[in-house]
Amino acid sequence: MTTAIYWFRNDLRLKDNPSLMQACMAADQLLPVYVHLPNLEQETPWGFQRMGQHRKIFLDQSLQELRSELRDFGSDLVEVPGDVLDVFEKLRAQIDADVIYCEQIQAPEELEQVALLRNAGFKINPVWQSSMLDSQSLPFQMQEMPDVFTQFRQQIEKNKFRFAYPVDHLKSIPPLPAIDISSTQSLGRNTISTGGKFQGGEQSAHTHIQQYFERRLPDTYKQTRNQLIGMDYSSKFSPWLAQGCCSARTIAKQLSEYEICCGENEGTYWLWFELLWRDYFRFLHFKYGKKLYSPKGLSKHLGNEFDSEHFFKWSSGNTGESLIDAGMRELKKTGYLSNRMRQIVASYWIYDMKGDWQAGAAWFESQLIDYDVYSNQGNWLYIAGKGTDPRGGRPFNVAKQTLDHDPDEVYRKMWLT
Ligand SMILES: Cc1cc2nc3c(=O)[nH]c(=O)nc-3n(C[C@H](O)[C@H](O)[C@H](O)COP(=O)(O)OP(=O)(O)OC[C@H]3O[C@@H](n4cnc5c(N)ncnc54)[C@H](O)[C@@H]3O)c2cc1C
Repeated sequence: MTTAIYWFRNDLRLKDNPSLMQACMAADQLLPVYVHLPNLEQETPWGFQRMGQHRKIFLDQSLQELRSELRDFGSDLVEVPGDVLDVFEKLRAQIDADVIYCEQIQAPEELEQVALLRNAGFKINPVWQSSMLDSQSLPFQMQEMPDVFTQFRQQIEKNKFRFAYPVDHLKSIPPLPAIDISSTQSLGRNTISTGGKFQGGEQSAHTHIQQYFERRLPDTYKQTRNQLIGMDYSSKFSPWLAQGCCSARTIAKQLSEYEICCGENEGTYWLWFELLWRDYFRFLHFKYGKKLYSPKGLSKHLGNEFDSEHFFKWSSGNTGESLIDAGMRELKKTGYLSNRMRQIVASYWIYDMKGDWQAGAAWFESQLIDYDVYSNQGNWLYIAGKGTDPRGGRPFNVAKQTLDHDPDEVYRKMWLT
């Protein structure tokens, strides 16, 4: 009798989850587990909580949906607070399982968690599954991946890669081993909704995606994607993608089916193009690893020093620059910000306020409902000129951006009054 653990990480779904599928095929009994890491509840070196309220609520909703889906299969979800090693040591003692299946996360802290488990004798099988493309069949070795996004994209397109096919749906999930899970069920966490626009969970993800295509919003995506107000100017797939409530491959497959039935256009291409940026930042992690997390990033120079007074002004939306203040207030209030505003406020922090880019990235990590380790780090490095961009940084002119994107002050009035 093989008993194994499935460790849900940023893959809170049952559909297109190859790692979970492997676990289901290999084990006679399977314990699905989610670990609530205490370090996410702690303060960052810059003096704020690492995981803010918006993401906690979305995460909690996603876990609730996942649990209910697992129950439909006769299984369940064990949620345990604690450090990864402690949690799995305790579970191993209870159910005598030292085999763990999980998704692979190629970022330093997450790799460290896996290394710790391995050193403690666990047989852990991480599976890479969060990209749209298959990492195994890229037209280059990961270490030789082109640094510049355009070159990366050209190689992908030249080889006609679009997306990897999602795996079949799960047919069954092995029964739970004997364990008392009642104590782990209600962690009394963040069940009070703030009435946000996003509802976490796999079902909710698929409903949102389906409606996005049914309403033919991809057709206008190219024209609207830089707007600032509303739910429809961009896809809003990111919160679900970040928690893994749906896979990028599933979205790309739907996009491709949409193109077959409704026609390819600039909008459908551009949506794929943006999903490719997501992959690009993921794959850069295989090539550069921890270097992406040093203050210099891949550059030769340190960033600006941290100034807490400046930081407070920026993060609370009190800089006196109306577009920036509107953006920072939207972020704090909703946990979401358009891509254009993310670029503008990040640039303002780094180049106008001479702020520490790592503090900015950490603030986004804390606030964003769609925080994704690779996309956040990659975009901050890019704007700060500490990544692979040959232009060495992306300063945005706030006056010009204001004229281009909020000439009638509609956005600013929305968040400043
Ligand atoms: C400073 C900064 C920090 C960011 N931090 C994050 C983050 O933590 N998590 C995150 O998901 N995105 C991040 N982004 C990228 C981008 O802003 C968001 O993915 C996008 O705004 C999400 O809204 P959407 O789903 O409507 O995107 P759409 O415009 O509809 O794009 C579709 C999908 O493509 C992907 N995508 C789009 N733009 C980018 C991009 N620039 N980089 C990587 N993937 C992209 C996302 O998965 C997105 O859901 C950041 C951008 C900046 C400038």
